[in-house]
Amino acid sequence: MNNYRESKKKILVAGGAGYIGSHTVKELVKRDYKVTVLDNLSNGHMTSLEGVKYVNGDIGDYAGVKGILESEEIDAVINFAALAYVGESVSNPRRYYDNNVVRGKALLDAVVDSGVKKIVFSSSCATYGIPEKVPISEGEKQRPVNPYGWTKLMFEQMMKDYDQAYGLKYISLRYFNAAGADADGTIGEEHDPETHVIPILLQNTLGLRKQFSVFGTDYDTRDGSCIRDYIHVTDLADAHIRAIEYLFERETSDCFNLGTGDGITVLELIDAVQRITGRKLNVSLEGRRPGDPDVLVADNSKARSVLGWSPVHSSIDNIIETAWKWHSGE
Ligand code: UDP
Repeated sequence: MNNYRESKKKILVAGGAGYIGSHTVKELVKRDYKVTVLDNLSNGHMTSLEGVKYVNGDIGDYAGVKGILESEEIDAVINFAALAYVGESVSNPRRYYDNNVVRGKALLDAVVDSGVKKIVFSSSCATYGIPEKVPISEGEKQRPVNPYGWTKLMFEQMMKDYDQAYGLKYISLRYFNAAGADADGTIGEEHDPETHVIPILLQNTLGLRKQFSVFGTDYDTRDGSCIRDYIHVTDLADAHIRAIEYLFERETSDCFNLGTGDGITVLELIDAVQRITGRKLNVSLEGRRPGDPDVLVADNSKARSVLGWSPVHSSIDNIIETAWKWHSGE
């Protein structure tokens, strides 16, 4: 076993200025890792954390990434750098395959050529498409239903092949619906344009939007609206650190679903947001959004048993309270 706890390991966080990346960087710093962030700031916001080195650059720049890995003597990489709008991936797939796959390959090449050979990757439940069985386990067939999901699956496949050929060790973390914000209110979810349901609900309560549309009320669920498994970003950050430690200790590749195992409907979310913010929403019931499965809920037993991970910040009340604090600035 490596003595990673004694030595300060150096981690390169690609996409570390984004939503989940910035929460993970904060958690890594708390636990004494030395962190270098690589971000092209296409969607990220540099919140400068003390002790963190920020490099403005792109994962597609093979020579640049290899240079950082070597000069900073990086021990492992976490890759958050990706485009992540499902709808945009349908209308502009070339941008998604370019960013998430082509540039992702340059990053992987640099990781193996520099001898680092350890990576934790932000994958997604979108790789499962419309699952046959819910809760979804890691053994579920991966059949994406949009280009975004395909790009995530292709990156997973590249890592698998690089493991076989070059000895790359990787952990794929398949997130369900990331939500919430850091408890101290300094970082949170900020997408432009916003498409995610909780920020949209909160923007409605703040009067930044006039009406909230429920996309579909005829699904095969308890109240007809879609069920999703919302997982707090601080719990996701913790899983990344456990994944990194697992790689240092075991040097084996694996994949894990990250969700709570509990689903909540869109209509239940509306009730929770109204109760927590004390504000009334103007709700309109609309038709289905194309490509939305009825129910996406994780079977998280593998992450619990192998990584010793469990969601502790992910009650729906805590998710909404922390997101509300961030959005309202209260
Ligand atoms: N949703 C909704 N109204 C909105 C945005 C989303 O009813 O304005 C629903 C959407 O159909 C899905 C759930 O909220 O069932 C979560 O959507 P989101 O885009 O946040 O995440 P996804 O599950 O698509 O990754």
